[in-house]
Amino acid sequence: MSQGEPITEEKVYCPNCSAQFPKGSRFCPVCDARNLFYVEHKDRVTAGLIAVMLGIFGGHKFYLRKFTQGIIYLFFFWTIIPAVLGLVEGIRFLTMSEAQFQQRY
Ligand SMILES: [Zn+2]
Repeated sequence: MSQGEPITEEKVYCPNCSAQFPKGSRFCPVCDARNLFYVEHKDRVTAGLIAVMLGIFGGHKFYLRKFTQGIIYLFFFWTIIPAVLGLVEGIRFLTMSEAQFQQRY
């Protein structure tokens, strides 16, 4: 083991050719297949606006890839509770700092 090496970036396996590459790359460097583990940058303001406007349908949950929670919101939309939660979450997204948001979501 060589000293002073940076902490190795998390690696993932290409689903197509099994090559190993860093999780942060969007495509496999060998066969160009899409990296399924690539995490898209989530926009805080977009998430906030979706939460306020489509919170009742769990829109922001789907945007943040929290699909299970999104489905729960969708299921209970008639109770108005998701609309209230969406509004609260939307305001929280819009008022929290970018760094806080990226760390959490
Ligand atoms: Zn590949």
